[in-house]
Amino acid sequence: MTAAADINVTRAETSKLKDINLENIPFGKYFTDHMLEVDYEDGKWKNAEIKPYQPLLLAPSLAALHYGQAIFEGIKAYKNDAGEAFIFRPYDNFKRFNTSAERMAMPQVPEEIFMEGMRMLIDIDKSWIPGQKDHSLYIRPFMFSSDEMIGVRPSEKYKFLIILSPTGPYYAAPMRINVEEHYVRAVPGGVGFAKAAGNYAGAMYATAQARAKGFDQVLWMDALEHKYVQECGVMNVFFIIGNTAVTPDLKEGTILAGVTRDSAIVLLKEMGYTVEERAISIDEITEAYKQGTLKEVFGTGTAATISMIKALNYKDFEMIFDVEQWKAAPEVKRRMDAIKAGVEVDNHGWMYKI
Ligand SMILES: *Cc1c(COP(=O)(O)O)cnc(C)c1O
Repeated sequence: MTAAADINVTRAETSKLKDINLENIPFGKYFTDHMLEVDYEDGKWKNAEIKPYQPLLLAPSLAALHYGQAIFEGIKAYKNDAGEAFIFRPYDNFKRFNTSAERMAMPQVPEEIFMEGMRMLIDIDKSWIPGQKDHSLYIRPFMFSSDEMIGVRPSEKYKFLIILSPTGPYYAAPMRINVEEHYVRAVPGGVGFAKAAGNYAGAMYATAQARAKGFDQVLWMDALEHKYVQECGVMNVFFIIGNTAVTPDLKEGTILAGVTRDSAIVLLKEMGYTVEERAISIDEITEAYKQGTLKEVFGTGTAATISMIKALNYKDFEMIFDVEQWKAAPEVKRRMDAIKAGVEVDNHGWMYKI
């Protein structure tokens, strides 16, 4: 283990915090006073430094800009009423980051850099964690290839950074979703399970087209038959059918293993639901809707926790839901938010104390 002291700290001379009102801040717009930056070179991580948040100076030939070896994570930190700071399930994100790195032929980031760097950085910028209800500090670790050479091969140099952004309550209005029948997000053998920048780039065109037609997002289907559900936009998706919660399984590697997805599975079981991780077809969904057994459809992800789906459109058939009547999704959200805020006991060891 590298000791914490191996991360150099250069403090900002003044804090930007005094100029920012931490209430109702838009997502991803403001960044804290410091950032973590680490270089990978000659097979080793070096120059680990926490320093004032600042622009990077990069060559136009930077490999990541051309071939897209770039991955990221999204995590949140919270402050409880006693002013103590906690991060929600950061080890799960740490492990997923290295799963993404492996798939993109990028080096593994050691735990003492990812976890200790994150802990130190948040500790230094602790006053930026908003204390109000439903507010949090969004943590964005990311890595990109930094060879200054445009040959096609895995880069030899990389940069790993963590930046922090205070964020207000993310009010996720119930969404209208269109089942995407042409474009696909992920294929078996592809990179769907990696939190890779390119997955987001590849999804934007279809999403923009759905928006132009009045939908909020797309429901991605499998690439081979356009029959089985994968994800809803950049969220995992759950269907409550009778007393069973069904969510697509992760076996084919086409679905991002969401930390919120995993947490929702745990909470749904505790709430008495049977949870099935399995293939679910759009035909099964429409059939359940027609029979009146499809009760709720919702997405899960770090940004919004739970996003309810009020309408699901498949071809010319629109399934409409009265979200006011829902029980499962609001209760999962309530329980998860209460654990994060420190209002309810954390029986699962999800909260990591700074
Ligand atoms: C990040 C992400 C999710 C949600 O994962 P969480 O760990 O719950 O935030 C779901 N799907 C995709 C494609 C994602 O990139």
